[in-house]
Amino acid sequence: MVLVFAEREGNSFKKSAYEAVSYGRDLAESLGTTCVAAVIGRVENAGQLGRYGAHAVVEHTGAGTDVFEPAVYTAALDEIAKSQNCDVVVLSGSYTGKILAPKLAARNKAALVTGVVELPDMSSGFTVRKSCYSNKAFTTVQLNAPNKVLSIIPNSYSIKEFPGEATLTQLSTDLSGSSMTQSLEIDKQAGKVPLTEAEVVVSGGRGLKGPENWGMIEEMAELLGAATACSKPVSDMEWRPHSEHVGQTGITIKPNLYIAIGISGAIQHLAGVGGSKVICVINTDPEAPFFKAADYGIVGDAFDVVPKLINRLKEINA
Ligand SMILES: Cc1cc2nc3c(=O)[nH]c(=O)nc-3n(C[C@H](O)[C@H](O)[C@H](O)COP(=O)(O)OP(=O)(O)OC[C@H]3O[C@@H](n4cnc5c(N)ncnc54)[C@H](O)[C@@H]3O)c2cc1C
Repeated sequence: MVLVFAEREGNSFKKSAYEAVSYGRDLAESLGTTCVAAVIGRVENAGQLGRYGAHAVVEHTGAGTDVFEPAVYTAALDEIAKSQNCDVVVLSGSYTGKILAPKLAARNKAALVTGVVELPDMSSGFTVRKSCYSNKAFTTVQLNAPNKVLSIIPNSYSIKEFPGEATLTQLSTDLSGSSMTQSLEIDKQAGKVPLTEAEVVVSGGRGLKGPENWGMIEEMAELLGAATACSKPVSDMEWRPHSEHVGQTGITIKPNLYIAIGISGAIQHLAGVGGSKVICVINTDPEAPFFKAADYGIVGDAFDVVPKLINRLKEINA
């Protein structure tokens, strides 16, 4: 059976959970088995994961599962995997998944592959394609151990929808004794949409001339409830933090709407954003390569166009 770790944020699921569950469902079908989603901590209606591919959901709400603690979460995931006889575990390669995947694999002497970008090929053994060298190359890896752990690159697999909800089972073993660390305080950036989770992203490139011009990008993002992103040179020059760098050597994102402002659309940039549902490009150069990948294009100066869009958004919001 295939087990998928469905990551949550507070009381609701992260987008990466739906993606991992859809991947797990397709993997389970290719193995002729079922897909079970593992939820750690309480979530509003965990059975909803059925709509993204889970046949069943096991929610572990034992003591210690409220806040992420690596040893507790590994123990919870392991308990769920064993209770369901799962020999393949799928996680998203998020910060949490990157911590849990090797711990779980070590605990079970499982074959671990991180950075997975596709479904495994089962034609000769169990082989998966993974990205390596900061996405500059791919390698195909064969997993030979009976237990397998795969972590998939966030936003590399499409979320699928299925009818109906999944059956829900509860586990409540006290896991507080497994804890090795304790979070004393969690200081969250208020109001900021995480880039990998965002449905709308407003992104700026070198065409914006300098960090002092990002006010309009942030204002537009705030009006749209969007996250901000940037091209590689922009983060290399420290106009913006590296956490906003998208592309081949940065983060891969797949929002519903990606607005690229003053970005040429180099192939390395498109590698990280080309899967966006709708791409809108604002660029002074009608020959900019990004227009070929765009659904909507505005040939114009960002310093004229963006303030006009901001005014229009303010009118609409009012
Ligand atoms: C191995 C490797 C990995 C790389 N990885 C990445 C990556 O992960 N992500 C990434 O982004 N890049 C990456 N790059 C760099 C990539 O090749 C491009 O150099 C980079 O994406 C260009 O950034 P840019 O579009 O912001 O700047 P530029 O190429 O300088 O483009 C600026 C654009 O702004 C437009 N412009 C200028 N003024 C205005 C204005 N006033 N209003 C509107 N438009 C204007 C111009 O017409 C131009 O199209 C990588 C390169 C290599 C070799």
